[in-house]
Amino acid sequence: MKVLVVNSGSSSIKYQVFGMPEGDVLCKGLLERIGEGASHLVHSVKDKKSETTAPVANHEDGMKLILATLTDKENGVVKDIHEIQAVGHRVVHGGEAFTGSVLINDAVIKTITDYCDLAPLHNPPNLTGIKATMAVLGSIPQVACFDTAFHQTIPEHAYLYAIPHKLYEEHKIRRYGFHGTSHRYVTERAQEMLGKKDINIITCHLGNGCSMTAVKDGKSVDTTMGLTPLEGLVMGTRSGDIDPAIIFHLADSLKMPLKDINTMLNKKSGLIGISGLSNDMRNLDEEAKKGNKKAALAISIFAYRVRKYIGAYMAVLNHLDGIVFTGGIGENNAQLRVEMCGNLDFWGIAIDTAKNTAPSRTERIVSTDASRVKIMVIPTDEEKAIAHDTYDLCMD
Ligand code: ADP
Repeated sequence: MKVLVVNSGSSSIKYQVFGMPEGDVLCKGLLERIGEGASHLVHSVKDKKSETTAPVANHEDGMKLILATLTDKENGVVKDIHEIQAVGHRVVHGGEAFTGSVLINDAVIKTITDYCDLAPLHNPPNLTGIKATMAVLGSIPQVACFDTAFHQTIPEHAYLYAIPHKLYEEHKIRRYGFHGTSHRYVTERAQEMLGKKDINIITCHLGNGCSMTAVKDGKSVDTTMGLTPLEGLVMGTRSGDIDPAIIFHLADSLKMPLKDINTMLNKKSGLIGISGLSNDMRNLDEEAKKGNKKAALAISIFAYRVRKYIGAYMAVLNHLDGIVFTGGIGENNAQLRVEMCGNLDFWGIAIDTAKNTAPSRTERIVSTDASRVKIMVIPTDEEKAIAHDTYDLCMD
């Protein structure tokens, strides 16, 4: 069975085709600049890349171009589009309605639409992608996988904010958490690696967006992102935790419009805000090595925030089996892993320098054999998780 996985953004569609149940990637691609005149599609089958530039007015036309590419004689992976038997969609916000992935029907579409208020930047383009795929592929099963679903096991005392309770009751203002598909995927891999289901781990997804999750007995019990992805860790362009009074100070004393504060906290803060240079950790590493003090400062603030949450989540979990690093930074930046968990020897946690720095792209344990807690590097694969959910729901 072939499953198409779609991640639809406001002007882009990312996709992969999987051969299931094996989970083999048959092809992947990214269509960008939808509705901007000249759209650009990069499509890869194994190491062979092909590129197309064409005007694509909207997501429906985008899906048509992608399907034409999938059936293309030279670069395609299916002879007939009907070989694609199901589609899995990434959907950012499932609110309290979804604790797992679901087959999409009218009621599901309505609920995702209702949650557009809580995720105005993400749910509308996700919905556009679902509707475009339905328009083009007709009635094959489609599945929605929610970034929030894995975190629906977080208990009330951890998901409620200490603001008037009415705001939760009437407006559902609470911590939801995101990156759930990634935290769940690495948790399942860690269960496999540690040989048991009931694991207590801290998962650190450190990419452009960053979040950490406390996982107890294989279930999320707390996470750093909140009502929106802005809370928690320092990220590429997001501030993470700040004193909320900063917003009133900026608005009242400095007369900064709320819209600008919103943009500043989401797009101009974090690594780029502190360094003034880049949101990309690789660039900051290079600049810091050349002696740039602000680049070095941005890196140390980033690492300190992660370390602080490791401490917090150790207190939440008490018994701890592992700390998992994933995402572009978590998987690849050995030096940062040392800064984030190199001073935990009091708790008997020790990173192994040789294992930590060995070049590898696979799942591995980088702590010493004597370490009480395993420090693990697990490459995330949200698309594969979505493909498996889609397959499982279609086989039910
Ligand atoms: P996204 O969250 O957009 O999916 P990634 O998970 O790719 O992004 O993470 C992007 C971050 O990971 C950037 O800060 C980048 O510098 C860092 N990164 C990605 N690949 C590497 C690498 N090979 N070595 C070091 N850092 C990397």
